[in-house]
Amino acid sequence: MAVPKKRVSSSRRDMRRSHHALTNTQLNECKNCGEVKRPHHVCPACGHYDGREVVEPANPV
Ligand SMILES: [Zn+2]
Repeated sequence: MAVPKKRVSSSRRDMRRSHHALTNTQLNECKNCGEVKRPHHVCPACGHYDGREVVEPANPV
């Protein structure tokens, strides 16, 4: 098993973790129904992607 040779100081540990923050997910509007959707994902409201219906809508209106 690999074992660290030196203890990592709290400063170095925290510097490493400075890149670990999460960012909010980006949201776009669906071209078909205008609902908010994630980019590169099928619209959950109307089942459309790239201008055509690819799956049945989860909750048909
Ligand atoms: Zn839609």
